[in-house]
Amino acid sequence: MRFTKLRLTGFKSFVDPTDLLIRDGLTGVVGPNGCGKSNLLEALRWVMGENRASAMRGGGMEDVIFAGAATRPARNFAEVTLVLDNAERLAPAGFNDNDALEITRRITRDAGSAYKVNTKDVRARDVQMLFADASTGAHSPALVRQGQISELINAKPKNRRRILEEAAGISGLYQRRHEAELKLNAAEANLLRVDDVLEQLA
Ligand code: ATP
Repeated sequence: MRFTKLRLTGFKSFVDPTDLLIRDGLTGVVGPNGCGKSNLLEALRWVMGENRASAMRGGGMEDVIFAGAATRPARNFAEVTLVLDNAERLAPAGFNDNDALEITRRITRDAGSAYKVNTKDVRARDVQMLFADASTGAHSPALVRQGQISELINAKPKNRRRILEEAAGISGLYQRRHEAELKLNAAEANLLRVDDVLEQLA
């Protein structure tokens, strides 16, 4: 699956609907300081399910909504759509009917985020798993922030291992293992409670 288009509406400085076409080969984004280059990368991270406001350089998630300018009022929502080429039908089951996959995240003030894949409502987790299975996602080491290279050099081995895991295509399995562990812990806690109840009945 290849990213082909990023569409932003009301996201940070991109108040009007804006399309970034990602064609075959290398795409470069150039512009003066403060014109919104980093905002584009953040939009990509955000639509893939980023939940840390700090990764968006904000105090809260609603900070991604256009905050207004001298001549334009603030917006009430922000929306980002990422279009992927799915001609080879590599998307997970349930999302494989079309040649293109459109993932949309929308945040509305005081109402939080909602996600869609090809107009179908989905959960944040579905989007995160979709990208993890494609060996990418909001936390992918392939998205390099300013200053991240020096962070990586100083990182602990456990954090560096994530890069190898992504290269091996097992990021999705790793996430599923974590969820299975949480379920196992919950089941063990329930068993202990059942033991307590049985003891009381005996
Ligand atoms: P540099 O080359 O200096 O790194 P850049 O091109 O990467 O700059 P960004 O950091 O992406 O620029 O964009 C910063 C701009 O986005 C600033 O002008 C800032 O005011 C604007 N901006 C950020 N969040 C919002 C928001 N919620 N509403 C309106 N504008 C915003």
